[in-house]
Order: sequence, then C-alpha cells, then structure tokens
Amino acid sequence: MHDPYAHITLPAGTILFEEGEPGAYAYLITSGRIEIFLRRDGREIPLAVRGAGEIFGEMAILDSDPRSASARALEDCLLVPVSEAQIRHRLSETDPILRLCLGVVMARYRETASLLKEKGVVARRDAPPAGPSPSAQADFDAAISAVVLERELRRALDRREFELFFQPIVRLGGEQLAGFEALIRWRHPERGLVPPAAFIPVAEESGLIVDVTDWVVAEVGRVMPEIMLAGLQNVAAVDGSLFVSVNVSGHDLARASFPGMICEMLRTTGIAPGSLKLEITESTLMRDPGSAADALTLCRASGMGIAIDDFGTGYSSLSYLSTLPITTLKVDRAFVRAMLSEPRDRKIVQTILRLADEIGIPVVAEGIEEREEAVALAAMGCAYGQGYLFGRPVPLPETLALIRSWNGMEPVAHRLPAA
Ligand code: C2E
Ligand code: CA
Ligand code: CA
Repeated sequence: MHDPYAHITLPAGTILFEEGEPGAYAYLITSGRIEIFLRRDGREIPLAVRGAGEIFGEMAILDSDPRSASARALEDCLLVPVSEAQIRHRLSETDPILRLCLGVVMARYRETASLLKEKGVVARRDAPPAGPSPSAQADFDAAISAVVLERELRRALDRREFELFFQPIVRLGGEQLAGFEALIRWRHPERGLVPPAAFIPVAEESGLIVDVTDWVVAEVGRVMPEIMLAGLQNVAAVDGSLFVSVNVSGHDLARASFPGMICEMLRTTGIAPGSLKLEITESTLMRDPGSAADALTLCRASGMGIAIDDFGTGYSSLSYLSTLPITTLKVDRAFVRAMLSEPRDRKIVQTILRLADEIGIPVVAEGIEEREEAVALAAMGCAYGQGYLFGRPVPLPETLALIRSWNGMEPVAHRLPAA
C-alpha cells in the first residue's frame, strides 16, 4: 500500500481500487482527474469524473461497506490519502445532527447506485425498512435531544427564563469581598433550576451561545449598579470597589461586534470598565487564537479585566500569557481540591502562583471548600479565593444581602445553604 503520510502520484491509466474491495482510504485530488466507473458484462459504465479540489472514495469509509465502484486515473494524478481513522475521529466529534444527515445521504446514495447497477430492478416498496444500527440509533437519539433542547433554549431566551446567580470572590487573608462571578441558571417551567452544564454545551454547538452571552452582558449591566451600591453600604468589608466577572465562549470572541457590544453596555450604564472581567478558558483561546486575541486586546484596551478560567486544565500553551493582555489567572478547583493531600498538586499550585507573580498578575483559587485550603493558599501568596467556603452562587437579592452583611474577618460565618 502507498505511504499514507505523503502525496501519492498515480500515472494515467492506473486503477486505484476496484468495486467490491474493502476501502481504507478516501483521496483528496491535488491535480489530475479520476474516473469512477462500474464493470458490467465486460463493459465499463462511467459514473463520474472527479478533479482537483475534490474528494473521492469516501463512501466506503463513511459507512464501512465495500467500494461501490472502481476508480482509475484519467491522467497523471497527485492524491493525498485520508485514512479511515482520520475521518472516523472527526465524525465522532461532529454534531449528532450532522452525523445523522450524513448517514441518510450515504444510504440514499448507495440505494441509487445499486438501482443503477441492476438496471430494471425497481425498489420493492413493500419491503420492511431495515432498522437502524445501534450506533445510528444513538446518533438519532442524540440528534433528537439536541434539536429539542435547542428549541427550548430559543424559547427560554424569548421568555426570559434565564437568571444570573452570583458567587463571591474574596481577598484571602482578611477575607474582604473583592467581586462576584456571574453564573447563569435556567429556570425551566417544568424542570426547575437547570445548571449551565446541562445547556451551555448545546448553546455552544448551535451558536445560540452568542444570544445567551448578549443576555448575560445586558443583565450584568442592569444589576451591577445595585451590587456596587450594596458594596458602598459596607465599605469596610469590601476590597476596593466590587467587580463582576462573566464567562465568555470562543463563539463570542469570534464575532467582530463583541467588544463593541460590551463597551456599549458599559457606556449606557456608566459602569467603570475596570469593574468588569471576562473569563475565558484556555481551550477557548486555542480554538481560534487570532480572533480571540483581537477581541481581547480591544476589551482590555477599554479597561476590562481578562481572566484565564480553569487554568492548568487546558492545552497550556503558555505563549498566550506573553501575547495576550491577561490580568488574572483562575486556578482550577481540581488542583485546589487535591492540594492538601497530594504534594504534586500543591507543587502545581505553587508553580502557577510563582508564574503569575513573575508576570505580575494575581491568582484566584477556585473551589475552596475547606478553611485549611484557604489558609494554605493565603500562606502560599494566593491573593484571591472563590468557593463554597465563602458562599455558593445565589440569586441577586441574596447577593445584595450578603454584601451588606459581609464581615470579612469571620468568613466561615458566611457559609450559605446550598443553592
Ligand atoms: P466555571 O466558570 O469554572 O464556574 C465555576 C463553577 O464551579 C460553577 O459551577 C460554581 O458553582 C462551581 N463552584 C464554585 N465553587 C465551588 C466549590 O467550592 N466546589 C464545587 N464543587 N464547585 C464550585 P456552575 O455555576 O454550575 O457553572 C459551571 C460552568 O458553566 C462554569 O464553570 C462555566 O464554564 C459555565 N457557565 C456558567 N455560567 C455561564 C455563562 O453565563 N456563560 C457561559 N458561556 N458559561 C457559563
Ligand atoms: Ca468561570
Ligand atoms: Ca473555573
């Protein structure tokens, strides 16, 4: 077999594969033309000609059936093979709705091809339909769930069923309130409070996340003056002026209008840009580094803070720390949780703290649940903490009450019941 890592040259007239053979590769045509044909009763029936910029041979590897036709070079060709593994991996990562569509297209294509081959044979309309294979059934079920959830999300946006909860972020040591992370919840009419893990992934796949973020930003603009005001009513317990951080996704950063949309919200509400932070994960940055960098640079230039969320769990190509205007690192709670029992995790936290210190930005430790974790992190020089120890995410009225009654010196007294 040919070298799967390189272009292959196929001299004019060469047969690449024959009908009925198993297929392990599809081919991208860089130059030349390929003829797809059938052999019947000693004759050749041409089916198609494929040229530069096209792919062929994909059917057999998409549905694992034998080659449905033969392929021959009409002229000298340059081809790049695409292996079954390369295509299968991408398919498994693809939206189930797209996979379902592809499966249907493949089945219909094969059906047409077999009718063509056995000319005169008409499809039996009384034949019972073959049931879906287990994997097709799983795709079908996943597609239904995704489509239904997506429609529900659209309706939820229209009916304003989303709500922001706020979780305190405190300065470690004195435990003064520094700010809040805004975390979305869906108040579903039948299912009650739905956590973001149950709908944010579908919102991202469907592109609806952009509308969700628009709503989050507008809502933050609406409630932030109240949060700031509550902070002014309890200045002794507050570290400077309070900030609010919002989670943004790669889709948000990819649209050119994003920085303008946030700046407009800040302008119309009169909120100081420095009071708003954007939280982005490393994987978000890696997905489309160019557009993410442009958007973040504009947002930072307007004065907003930029935090890297779940730091240490993504691809950690640290190069973005020198090129992007990052102002905060948020250490993932997996390290915080394991820190006291696992020396390795403690070392990782220490290393992140040293790194942040070297580049002159503060760290927020996420997921602090135990007093000892807060004490250890403060001793290691971590400036800020967030976690159930200080407070769970709660709706706005509880948030305002929490700010007004916050007493920085006794953080444990502020533990709230589960939200
Ligand atoms: P995240 O940005 O890492 O948010 C922190 C999550 O950790 C929150 O879960 C919070 O409730 C939880 N958490 C905080 N402290 C503790 C603790 O001490 N122990 C434990 N076990 N958990 C703690 P939540 O609210 O369910 O949010 C989950 C994820 O959903 C967020 O992770 C974020 O990635 C996403 N998300 C939430 N709101 C939004 C939003 O408005 N927009 C976008 N794009 N994503 C959001
Ligand atoms: Ca976050
Ligand atoms: Ca996080």
